Amino acid sequence: MTKYIFVTGGVTSSLGKGIISASLAKLLQARGYSVTIQKFDPYINIDPGTLNPYEHGECYVTEDGAETDLDLGHYERFLNVPTSQANNITTGRIYQNVINKEREGAYLGKTVQVVPHITDEIKRNMQILGEGSEFDIVITELGGTVGDIESLPYIEAVRQLRWELGSGNSLVIHLTLIPFLAAAGELKTKPTQHSVKMLLEYGIQPDILVCRTEHHLSQEIRKKIALFCNVNINAVIESIDASTIYDVPLLMLKEQLDKIVLTKLKLPLKSDPLLDKWKSFLGRLKNPTSEVKIGLVGKYVELPDAYKSITESFIHAGAKNECKVIVKCIQSESITSDNVAEKFKGLNGVLVAPGFGSRGIEGKIEAIQYVRENDIPFFGICLGMQCAVVEFARNVLGLEDAQSTEMDENAKNPVISMMEDQKKIKNKGGTMRLGAYSCDLKKGSKAAAIYGKSHISERHRHRYEFNNSYLEQFENAGMMASGINPENNLVEIIELKNHAFFVAGQFHPELKSTVDNPHPLFVNFVAASLTHSKKK
Ligand code: GLN
Repeated sequence: MTKYIFVTGGVTSSLGKGIISASLAKLLQARGYSVTIQKFDPYINIDPGTLNPYEHGECYVTEDGAETDLDLGHYERFLNVPTSQANNITTGRIYQNVINKEREGAYLGKTVQVVPHITDEIKRNMQILGEGSEFDIVITELGGTVGDIESLPYIEAVRQLRWELGSGNSLVIHLTLIPFLAAAGELKTKPTQHSVKMLLEYGIQPDILVCRTEHHLSQEIRKKIALFCNVNINAVIESIDASTIYDVPLLMLKEQLDKIVLTKLKLPLKSDPLLDKWKSFLGRLKNPTSEVKIGLVGKYVELPDAYKSITESFIHAGAKNECKVIVKCIQSESITSDNVAEKFKGLNGVLVAPGFGSRGIEGKIEAIQYVRENDIPFFGICLGMQCAVVEFARNVLGLEDAQSTEMDENAKNPVISMMEDQKKIKNKGGTMRLGAYSCDLKKGSKAAAIYGKSHISERHRHRYEFNNSYLEQFENAGMMASGINPENNLVEIIELKNHAFFVAGQFHPELKSTVDNPHPLFVNFVAASLTHSKKK
């Protein structure tokens, strides 16, 4: 029987429920359990696909093409196990399902209500990954903070489900904040007490409290929290600020979170956690022997979460190269032909980021021209690849008015154009080319050498593509289409031959980089940047 762990948040948002969930899952996995994590988000959008990154950070995409919360990225990076649509559910999706059922007549004769219909649908979704699956343990992260109006139905669903599952089959971990008041020189437990009281009002007694803190929790503080929140003292877990999120599993191990969880779930401890690979990654991450500076050119650079998977992929690739990767974010809108040399001074590589719409496009194209002409390693992702194609068309093929039809519908030279099957689509949500597609790599290409194979699969999220009617011109001038989708001939990778590193993909490699499996394109791009830094 699958066991369920629910993770709630108290006091404030941004305490890192996703990282705590992923860290606990990592420890349980390292003890030999098969674990998955799902996230329930209380907002009304069906998924975050239509949200601006400023609202919600990066939109993560799963193998099966679900547009999801960025926490799923953490789950995959920590566990090295793919997630799917079932791992991310929003209030919008819950209501959509219930309303569709109402129209089908599933509740004929009945008044459809939040309790029991919405809560039943939440409970059903909470168990989809558990029922008869290979997972021993399903961790469910509830978005939002306890006390929010919109998360109430989720809390009620957890209350009911715990009762239905019976004792020993589920537990609730409450993540809370123990603030330090500098003026008083003290850690304060009152906000946590209030937050737990609120959970109790809703009928939930948390089993474990994970306490985010800037200072170590004394035995006395732990005792106080335990006493006022009705938990065992060993279930008061300190979660001290860490220098990297990848330290958190080891910090949780030290606090014995995994042991407490398994004991409460009446599961055997099995072996001690096998974390050799994780520890060797951390060792390399913390003891770099060299350093590179990479420019990340994008239009959402003010918000670090907008490019979360890219910056995490650089951490994995850096550790693999035993090299510290310093990522310098550069606002694409600010780049012009006059300042590009100044802005890129000291950079050993440049990544041009994904994106939508025309803001910052010309800056991205300037950036690419500069790195192409100055033999600085370049890596383009999705819109970054499309910009590389437009740049090459304009400045090498001499097609001055080359453009993507996303930016100019009537472009005279539409070197990037909307995919045929996208043209008839009217709805914006969930209708892009999404999820995993296969790609054949050309023999002798850089891409084939980097991947070390001839057939790959990568995840996508786009509507526009390389316009194949220009392919011959590009290839004759030295830009090679080294990755092609075998089913429909879409160009998935382009590269330049006589260049330190000039590779760009229509897909998102950053979505598949994990601690255990750093993505080869990132690893090789960092390696090329390292070579560039040494040459200098
Ligand atoms: N806007 C481009 C497209 O839709 C690129 C998308 C992206 O970078 N994810 O094709």
